[in-house]
Amino acid sequence: MKFSLVNGKKTEAFPKGKGICYNCGAITIAKCGRKMINHWAHQSLRHCDTWWENETEWHRDWKSKFNQEWQEVVHHDSLTNEKHVADIKTSAGLVVELQNSTISLDEVESRERFYGKMIWIVNAEKFANNFHFKSMLPDPNASFLQDIQFLIGRKNTLLGFWRPSENLNGASMVLSHPVHEISELIRVNFVGHYLFQWVRPRHVWYRSNRRVFFDFGHNSIFEFMRFPNQKTLCVRAVDKTELVNCIVNDLFSQELVNNSKGF
Ligand SMILES: [Zn+2]
Repeated sequence: MKFSLVNGKKTEAFPKGKGICYNCGAITIAKCGRKMINHWAHQSLRHCDTWWENETEWHRDWKSKFNQEWQEVVHHDSLTNEKHVADIKTSAGLVVELQNSTISLDEVESRERFYGKMIWIVNAEKFANNFHFKSMLPDPNASFLQDIQFLIGRKNTLLGFWRPSENLNGASMVLSHPVHEISELIRVNFVGHYLFQWVRPRHVWYRSNRRVFFDFGHNSIFEFMRFPNQKTLCVRAVDKTELVNCIVNDLFSQELVNNSKGF
């Protein structure tokens, strides 16, 4: 934990510090050293929240982008009496879960059910070498897409397209077009979407029903999403400061938070 209660105040770990866990009320001991980041640990060995994962610099970097009051917030379900510590919870009730280690589908589903209005930020540096960015895709709202369905090759590159208007009922063969007919349109309408090829994918993120953002350690973060009106998944680059801005100003409506990738 980054925080513990010292004299009733949310406090970061300091050498020889003692505090009270804000979640369970047990005694916590400050751990400060060169080999690990400063944190609080329960005096008894077990952490009170089974969903808790060991904190890394990566967690801290993300938490520190938000107000202290929004970091490590106890979320309580009054119906089931279950409670867990959300990494970030805004005053508008949006929970941001920071996921560094691998996670089971059961746990993804439990957290999504428990928090409801939430998004995931996933540390993607661990699988960055298996994740290959492929063809650029245009803005899904670009008008030229209205009569276009992508044709995508085996390695997830864009090979071409076909037009529903040219392939009406009963056509035995689809009339396809090569990609170069629209490459210029894609270029001028580009807003950050890419096809990708993911070797040994972490399937759990295909099954998530919330918005998922992959952090490869760049200035941009990549939303893992279904490309609207097409039978393909893609990622979309978003500037990290823009994402933080959306979270802070509650620009994620409930509708936008729920995001099935359709698997
Ligand atoms: Zn505790």
